[in-house]
Amino acid sequence: MKRREFLDISKTGIILSAAAPSLHAFDALLQEDEDQTLHLIHEEACADALVDKSILEPREDDIIATAKEYKVLYSLYQRLRRLQRTVGHAHFNVLNFDTAIKTARWYKRVGPFTKAEIDYFEELFYESAQSYGFFGEKVIVSMTNSIQKRELIKIRRSGHYLFKGDSFNKYKEIRKVMGNKVILTSGVRNIVKQTYLFLNKVVRTKGNLSIASRSLAPAGYSYHGISDFDIGKVGFGARNFTADFARTKEFKSLTKMGYIKIRYPKNNPFGVRYEPWHIKVYSDA
Ligand SMILES: [Zn+2]
Repeated sequence: MKRREFLDISKTGIILSAAAPSLHAFDALLQEDEDQTLHLIHEEACADALVDKSILEPREDDIIATAKEYKVLYSLYQRLRRLQRTVGHAHFNVLNFDTAIKTARWYKRVGPFTKAEIDYFEELFYESAQSYGFFGEKVIVSMTNSIQKRELIKIRRSGHYLFKGDSFNKYKEIRKVMGNKVILTSGVRNIVKQTYLFLNKVVRTKGNLSIASRSLAPAGYSYHGISDFDIGKVGFGARNFTADFARTKEFKSLTKMGYIKIRYPKNNPFGVRYEPWHIKVYSDA
């Protein structure tokens, strides 16, 4: 049982800690969050525009949430959505679990997480994703994982952050070659954000956890939590998250120049869709 972990807030300091979150601070963050459209494209509009439609087909052994579970996950999803609106997309990307809990309590329009919601969040995080069909590596093992602001760099006009060092250097390399034809479409995503995106998929499939995990890594399993990022072609909209991106001139030059190392190639063994827009930074090899 990892329950105690998230009550023991890291002594090392929490990014943008919300011990007493000021509305003013969040409003500033909201204003900073320049391009909301991009987020909507990434998280909502593209959700069905998949490379391989067959992953959206239900399979016989898919794991489906019970009606009781669905009720809880749906209210958790809605609360996270309200929280994202309140703190702003950029900040929400890197928010840690403890801060999310505190912030929700602080704002009436978000409201405190219920015990059932917290339990479900925890169960989702710690329960083996393999049980619903995801076979990737778990790269973040604690639900309370906190990302320090000093580790990050905010990418202007993207509403996203990248980790300083390898990730940012790789992005700079790409931009150097491609100029502003290529943009960051999703950068660092901590556990709260990844859970929100995962639940978004679960809700869209009316509770099918297996379909969700075939189209998005569950929280803790996404390399966005430690290094990877997504890029797209400016003006290409939702098609950046489809196989169409792999047919663009931009993608071809990036591949030729060796900048693109795809995390999830076609027919990968992890049970995840092919994502040509996803740049692999971290590697064991
Ligand atoms: Zn990605």
